Amino acid sequence: MAIAKEIKSAVFVKGSPTIVGVFDDGLPHIAFIGRSNVGKSSTINALTKQKGLAKTSGAPGATKHINLFLVNNNLYIVDLPGYGFVKGSVGKRDVLHDVIESYLSYRYEGEQAIVLILDAKVGPTKDDLDILTMLEDHGKKIVVAVNKVDRLKNSELKSQLIKIQKAIGGHTLVPYSAEKKTGIGALWVAVTKD
Ligand code: GDP
Repeated sequence: MAIAKEIKSAVFVKGSPTIVGVFDDGLPHIAFIGRSNVGKSSTINALTKQKGLAKTSGAPGATKHINLFLVNNNLYIVDLPGYGFVKGSVGKRDVLHDVIESYLSYRYEGEQAIVLILDAKVGPTKDDLDILTMLEDHGKKIVVAVNKVDRLKNSELKSQLIKIQKAIGGHTLVPYSAEKKTGIGALWVAVTKD
C-alpha cells in the first residue's frame, strides 16, 4: 500500500499493555522507540502537527503502554514504551523489555518500519545500542532519528553525527528537532520510503 507523504489526519486509537488483538487489521505501521525523555512524544506530535496527541512530560517512564494512532485512515503510528528508566525496579525494566520484545516478535501482514530515536547531545547510550541490536535481530526496517539537534552548535553537531553514524553502522540517520520542527519532513520521508 502506498503511504501518503503528508499526514492529513491522526487520531489516538488505543493504549494497550499488550499487542494481542491490537494489530489484526493488516494496516502498515511505523513504530517509534527510544529512551524515556528522548522526545518520542514530541516527535509524534510534530509529525502529526497535533500538539497534544502523544503526551509529553518531564516525568520519564510514564508510558508503559503501546499507544496506537491511526494516520490518514490507512496506517498506524505505534508509540512503544520508553526504555532506560533507571528509577524503575529490575522487574519493571523486564516488563518493558517484554512489551518491546513481544511487539518485535509479532508477525504482521502490513509493512513496517521502526524508528529508533536518539538524543543528539547524549549520543547513543548502551541501552540504545542494545535496542538497535534487538531491532536488527528481528530484521526490521530501521531508521535512526537523532532528535534535539537544536541543543548543539553546528560544529558540535557535525562531529556528533559522524560519531553516531559510526556507532549505528549503515542505517539511515535523520537529524531533526521536534521542538524547532526542523527536519521533521525529512524524517517522515525516510520512514515511509520503501
Ligand atoms: P518522551 O519521554 O520520549 O516522550 O519525551 P517528550 O516528548 O516528553 O520530551 C521530553 C523532554 O524533551 C521535554 O521536556 C521536551 O520539551 C524536550 N524535547 C523534545 N524534543 C526536543 C527538541 O527537539 N529539542 C529540545 N531542546 N528539547 C526537546
